[in-house]
Amino acid sequence: KQYEKDEILQHAEASNVRYVRLQFTDLLGIVKNVEIPVDQLPKALDNKIMFDGSSIEGFVRIEESDMYLVPDRSTWLVFPWDTPQGKIARLICDIYLPDGSPFPGDPRSVLKNVLERAKNLGFTSFNVGPEPEFFLFKMDANGKPTDQVNDEGGYFDWAPVDLGENCRRDIVLTLENMGFEIEASHHEVAPGQHEIDFKYADAVEAADNIATFRLVVKTIARQHGLHATFMPKPLYGINGSGMHAHLSLFNGEKNAFYDESDELGLSGTARHFLAGILKHAPGFTAVCNPTINSYKRLVPGYEAPSYIAWSGKNRSPLVRVPAARGQSTRIEVRSPDPSCNPYFAIAALLASGLDGIERSLELADPVNRNIYIMTDAEKEEVGIRSLPANLNEAIEALVADEVLTNALGEHVLVHFIEAKRIEWNMFRTQVTEWEREQYMTLY
Ligand code: GLN
Ligand code: MG
Ligand code: MG
Ligand code: MG
Repeated sequence: KQYEKDEILQHAEASNVRYVRLQFTDLLGIVKNVEIPVDQLPKALDNKIMFDGSSIEGFVRIEESDMYLVPDRSTWLVFPWDTPQGKIARLICDIYLPDGSPFPGDPRSVLKNVLERAKNLGFTSFNVGPEPEFFLFKMDANGKPTDQVNDEGGYFDWAPVDLGENCRRDIVLTLENMGFEIEASHHEVAPGQHEIDFKYADAVEAADNIATFRLVVKTIARQHGLHATFMPKPLYGINGSGMHAHLSLFNGEKNAFYDESDELGLSGTARHFLAGILKHAPGFTAVCNPTINSYKRLVPGYEAPSYIAWSGKNRSPLVRVPAARGQSTRIEVRSPDPSCNPYFAIAALLASGLDGIERSLELADPVNRNIYIMTDAEKEEVGIRSLPANLNEAIEALVADEVLTNALGEHVLVHFIEAKRIEWNMFRTQVTEWEREQYMTLY
């Protein structure tokens, strides 16, 4: 809902709001904020709050670093939890330069630009339904996360009432109080692992929701003495955490992915979009799986994809087409993980799909077999490629993909690639416990 300035001011007063967080995200998807006392709220709503962007990851500009925070009034929200100082509210902001133009390094503005292209093609919304997974870990006496999960539960377990169960329920309740429509929440396959699914929304709102979701999960977990992590693969040998994304394009009230007359119920638009996703999968991997750790998840054996293919049935490929048709027709991209910057991830997926539509890319046949047990020769025969195996390969694939580099824009690309190359080089030179175990006595 697009609130009026006065409505927000009245609501802030009626709800005993004492501080307002002006929220945005940096290049790495980390939520940042400038906190203002509530008496500065009128000024903030007049777009007059400036901040120094030079210390924000990827925001650096040598010439000038003063930037404006422009609140999106539809994102006004009072956090349901109490603090000793009273209630805290937030507004998600767009970032503008002093000359009045949108800051090209603002992830929200990157996503809006790609969405604009979808609008020009006649689509009214790009709906994204995420399935974020996360782990709950015990904390030590100093409040630091340990590597001990808090339960022994498994997939959809009706676990005895334990810390994790209560915590997850509390998270769901809090999210509902904040206006999230929770569709499902359950224990995931690994011990200590959970999933909470909320209703799809149009691209920007969906990305806002993911950012807010991560914040709420961490906050409530902490209140339960637990540490929630969206790290993709926190423990060796068990499932990692993904964030499957259910995608569809709408024309007004009509789902543009559905075609009753097609044998699979998929429209030409859906097929081209999906072809675009498969084509650009190597390139968008660095964006949807942006950490060193992301690639420890994308390996066979843990329900995460490592091959580029699609299927209507089985869950080993990158993209699955869930059985629902009609208004619920959608594709599920299974590679993204919850360490991604949600604005960039959604922008990259959309740009990939739109390229498929714009160029009427032909969709390859579905692969309805278990790819993990196919031989290399069999995979080669049907043209199944692998996802990048590590962050370095992923960065190179991104740099080589013009559709995606254009979608992210020069500013983001340069800073993102730079940050990721540093990360890769730091990791590459580490000597791990695993290596000492393998080689210390052997050589
Ligand atoms: N945790 C799995 C992944 O990494 C997904 C498991 C599931 O939702 N079936 O993607
Ligand atoms: Mg799920
Ligand atoms: Mg799941
Ligand atoms: Mg899923």
